[in-house]
Amino acid sequence: MPELPEVESLRRYLIREDVVGKKFVKVQLEDKPESANRTGTIAYARQVIDRTVTSIERKGKQLSLVLDDFVLGFHMGMTGQVHVLAPDEAPPRFTRVEFTLEKNHRVTLIDPRRWAKIQRFESLDHAFAGLGPDALDPNFAASEFVSIMEGRTAQVKPLLLNQSVVAGIGNIYADEALHRVSISPARHLNTIPKTVLVSLFEAIRASLEHALEFILSHPDELGRPYIVDAYDERMLLRRKPGTFCPRCEIPISTLKFGGRTAYYCSNCQS
Ligand SMILES: [Zn+2]
Repeated sequence: MPELPEVESLRRYLIREDVVGKKFVKVQLEDKPESANRTGTIAYARQVIDRTVTSIERKGKQLSLVLDDFVLGFHMGMTGQVHVLAPDEAPPRFTRVEFTLEKNHRVTLIDPRRWAKIQRFESLDHAFAGLGPDALDPNFAASEFVSIMEGRTAQVKPLLLNQSVVAGIGNIYADEALHRVSISPARHLNTIPKTVLVSLFEAIRASLEHALEFILSHPDELGRPYIVDAYDERMLLRRKPGTFCPRCEIPISTLKFGGRTAYYCSNCQS
């Protein structure tokens, strides 16, 4: 699932491809109206025509194209990708929507599993409603993170994944950060000292920034954002049964939190 670093790399890609400042001139939905409807696009997709993209914003894992008078929110689901096509390029397989902008800039939403969504919002505040501070926002300070987290009875991992608490920490990067600071995903927040919470905040930032750097430096041959695979050098933990802790080399353990698997080291993390 695209997480914060993937979505941020997509935002930068669209800016690089000069989407900002361009007007929509045409919208083409895939042939099956009932499937297009599932992507939530059919009711208003044509409303973007004659609107100009004024900026591209991200909060957490959500991406928004700000238009003159409304906002187009992109939710990538599990398999969604946005590509800018060359003028004569055929739409790739699984293209759900193709937007044509001025100067024949074609932007497509490709989504094999059809879980991605494009939604209309009245403003950026509406698009990002209910999200906590963005994990990579430079104005989000460690002291604010500590005051959000400290003293709570919740377990640390599920709280980190709660996007209304902090936006942009997904399953992979929560595990990476907790491993970096040797905290078990099941640990209750009220047992974690303040200084360790500060280290956790720094570890979250470091994991996300490391991943973003990796993704930005590995575009595909056409300069498009890197597609995340099961495991690569972004991660310390291999996220597979039968693999080992990169620090003490004992087998990695797993725990389930609401259907999501946490990978951790029962020796290093407590
Ligand atoms: Zn270990």
